[in-house]
Amino acid sequence: MKRDIIIIGGGIVGLTCAYFLNKAGREVTIIDEGNITNSTSFGNAGLLSAFDKSPLSYPGVVTNTLKLMLKNQSPAIVHPTTDLNVYKWLLKFIINANEKRTNKTMMLFEKYGEISNRLYKKMQKDDNLDFDFHHDGMLSIFTEEKTYQEKLKKYNFVDEKRFKVLDKEEINEYLPSGTDKIKGGILFKRNARFDPKRAMSELKRHLEQAGVEFILNEKIDNISFKDSKVSYIHSKNGEFYEAEHFIMSTGYQTLLADIRKKPLMMTPAKGYSITFNMPEELKPKVSTLFNDLFIVMTPRRDNVRLTSKLEIGSENPNVVKKQIESIKKNFFEYNKEFEMINEEFWSGFRPLTPNDIPLIGRDDEIKNLTYAMGLGWLGMTFAPAVGKIITELIVKDKSNAKSDDILLFSGFYQ
Ligand SMILES: Cc1cc2nc3c(=O)[nH]c(=O)nc-3n(C[C@H](O)[C@H](O)[C@H](O)COP(=O)(O)OP(=O)(O)OC[C@H]3O[C@@H](n4cnc5c(N)ncnc54)[C@H](O)[C@@H]3O)c2cc1C
Repeated sequence: MKRDIIIIGGGIVGLTCAYFLNKAGREVTIIDEGNITNSTSFGNAGLLSAFDKSPLSYPGVVTNTLKLMLKNQSPAIVHPTTDLNVYKWLLKFIINANEKRTNKTMMLFEKYGEISNRLYKKMQKDDNLDFDFHHDGMLSIFTEEKTYQEKLKKYNFVDEKRFKVLDKEEINEYLPSGTDKIKGGILFKRNARFDPKRAMSELKRHLEQAGVEFILNEKIDNISFKDSKVSYIHSKNGEFYEAEHFIMSTGYQTLLADIRKKPLMMTPAKGYSITFNMPEELKPKVSTLFNDLFIVMTPRRDNVRLTSKLEIGSENPNVVKKQIESIKKNFFEYNKEFEMINEEFWSGFRPLTPNDIPLIGRDDEIKNLTYAMGLGWLGMTFAPAVGKIITELIVKDKSNAKSDDILLFSGFYQ
C-alpha cells in the first residue's frame, strides 16, 4: 500500500507539519519510535520567546560562560568526546557569536515568531484546542549587575508595547519568590508561553480525529532509494513503508540523515526540567528567564516547571541527580526557600544548530524527501511556521530556490 505523506518523528515539528498538510487535504501518516508522550517536545519550558531574545551564540557568550563556570553556576557543560563533529560544531558556534549574525538571527526570530504566535492562536480557535496558551510576555531577570546594566543600555528608550523595565516592587509582583539578590528585571511583552505537554496531547488528539494515521513504537532504521527517490523506509520490526513523499522530523537523532549521507550541522544538547507544585502565593505570574543562570520558570495551569542546562557531548539520556541538585542550588540562590511538591524530573536533547537556524527544506537530489530538522533551542516557538513552510513546499511542489522562507530561514542556506 502506497501512502501519500509519511512523517518520520512525531515531536512538535512532525505534528505541526501534519496539522497543515491535513488542512491542505493531504493524507498523512506519522511514524514514531515511541508513543508520543515524552520526547523533547514534552519536557521543555514552553516559552514562545522569539522577541527581544538573542540566540545562544551571542557576542560574549564564551567569556560569560567561563565566568559562570568559575562561579560554579554555568548551565553549559562540554563533555570530553571522541566525536570530531562536536568540535566542528563548537567552532561554528563560536564563529557565529558575532554582532552581525546575532542581529540577523534576531530579525528572523521576530519574523517567524510573529507568524507562529498567530498560527498557534488560530489553531486553538479553529479546532477548539487548549494549549494553556498565554500571550503575557517573558520576564527577564538579571542576577549579575554587569549584564543588567548592559541590557539597560540597549533598552534605553520607551516602547510600551514592546517592553517595560520593572522596579523592585513590580519584580516582586511578577516573581513573588525572588529575593533582594536580584539586580533587575525587564518584561518583554511580545513573548508568549504554553504548556508543551498539553499542546502536544491536544494536537495529537485533534490529528487522530482529523484522520491522520499514527504508527507508534515503530523505529525506522533504514531507507531504500531508487531513481532519485525514496522507494521505501524500513522499520526495526521488519515493516516496509512506501509513500509519495517523506518528511524527516526526527529531532536530535540523525540516523536516517546519516543513511542518506546528508550532513546536518547540529549536535544534541541535553537539558533538564523539574515540574512541581508550589505555594500559590509564590508562583510567578509569567514565564521567567533567569538570564545569567539560563534557568526558565514557567507557571502552568496545574503546576510550575523549571528548565535548565545545556550539555554538549553527552550521550547519557538519563536524569543525572547531580544536575538536578545544581539547578535547584542556582535557583534558590536568588529565590525564597519553598518545598517543591510532587516533583517530576525529565531530561532530553535539543537538536542544536550553531546559529539557532533550523535545517529545513527539500533534499537536493532525492525528490520526495524533505527535512524538518534542527529546531534546537526554540523549536516550540517556531514549529507552526515551519509546519506551514514545509506544507507549502510539498503541496505546491516548490523547489527550495523558489521558497523565500527556505532561503531566509533554513540553515542549509546560511
Ligand atoms: C530543557 C529544554 C527546554 C526547552 N525550552 C524551550 C522553550 O522554552 N521554547 C522553545 O521554543 N523550545 C524549547 N526547547 C526546545 C524544544 O523542546 C525543541 O526545539 C523541540 O522539542 C524539538 O522538536 P522536534 O519535533 O524537532 O523533536 P522531538 O520532540 O525530539 O521529536 C522527534 C521525534 O522523532 C522520533 N524519532 C526519532 N528518530 C526516529 C526514528 N528513526 N524512527 C521513528 N521515530 C523517530 C522521536 O521518538 C521523537 O518523538 C527546550 C528544550 C529543552 C531540552
